[in-house]
Amino acid sequence: MLKFDLPTKIFLGKNCIKENTNVFSLGKKALIVTGRSSAKKNGSQSDVEAVLNSLNIDYAIFDQVKSNPDIPTVYKGAETAKAEHADFVIAIGGGSPMDAGKTIALLACQNIAPENIFSGSYQKKVLPMIHIPTTSGTGSEVTPYSILSNHKAQTKSTIATPLIFPTYALLDPAYQKDLPISITINTALDALSHNIESILSMKINPLIAQIAQSGIKQIGDCLTAMENNDLTEAVREKLQYGSLAGGIAIAHTGTNIVHSLGYSLTYFRDIDHGRANALTIAEYLNFIAKTAPEKVALILNDMKFDNISQFKAQIDRLLGKKEAFTAEELEKYTQIALKAKNINTSLRAPSESDVLSLYKNSLL
Ligand SMILES: [Zn+2]
Repeated sequence: MLKFDLPTKIFLGKNCIKENTNVFSLGKKALIVTGRSSAKKNGSQSDVEAVLNSLNIDYAIFDQVKSNPDIPTVYKGAETAKAEHADFVIAIGGGSPMDAGKTIALLACQNIAPENIFSGSYQKKVLPMIHIPTTSGTGSEVTPYSILSNHKAQTKSTIATPLIFPTYALLDPAYQKDLPISITINTALDALSHNIESILSMKINPLIAQIAQSGIKQIGDCLTAMENNDLTEAVREKLQYGSLAGGIAIAHTGTNIVHSLGYSLTYFRDIDHGRANALTIAEYLNFIAKTAPEKVALILNDMKFDNISQFKAQIDRLLGKKEAFTAEELEKYTQIALKAKNINTSLRAPSESDVLSLYKNSLL
């Protein structure tokens, strides 16, 4: 069955906020959800505030979202939304504020006990949302997922419900003009991973495959530019498109092995999410190539690589010096990865020893 289901309305392009002010009339009072500083530095927050002021729409700001947001943070945000009587959410920033914004919008409308937050059973009540990504990575602006640090399970866990699709996604690559190269690389490799994992998922369909392939091509075009720190406006536009395509793709297929392996690297070693994925992506292609060589060949061809080794060499150059791991750490991460929700949705399901080999071949 071919299914395409994306309720989010998307605007991508320079000045898309100033040219689509009508979308901000989503309620009477907004809660702006963001991090401490980046939305202030790159101008996105002041652009949003100017639009809200011009429309006479009141707003409050919750700017306490850090990287890899946890459960206490989203409850705190929801309390702010309720205290301020906000009736819609505007999330601005990278994946962390956008993911937090979604759960805040959910918790602002219903009482969910923290132990049931990942249960998937929610009342059909949520504040409408506008998402404004200021990195090109997560694609969270077009997904039904909110990924939070789950200290009880010692990993990152996912809230997945169509309720939390944003109403609008506004993507202006100009906000990324001064984004540091390390964040640019990590987020781009996250987006690349979304597109690749989607194509190599059991849930892929031909329409989504086309979208994911277009994302791979656009990001593939930028790998050398990123290596050379040559981040032109055209590169920013391609990366933003690639991130959006990856978000649309995983909204339909989810992620699979690479993300399941990456969560422990982030949770226990504080390795950036995109970098964590990039560390295992080449070995993942080797693993899947044994089952679906033609699909892996297509992905490599889209990025103009002849083989996985060439791809791995470029990813390694982009990642630079790698972190050191012990075999004991990787054995522990293997047990956690095996419990991840999506690990068995790739075209080849990994056994316990496969997961350990993927870690070891990538990291030792
Ligand atoms: Zn990701």
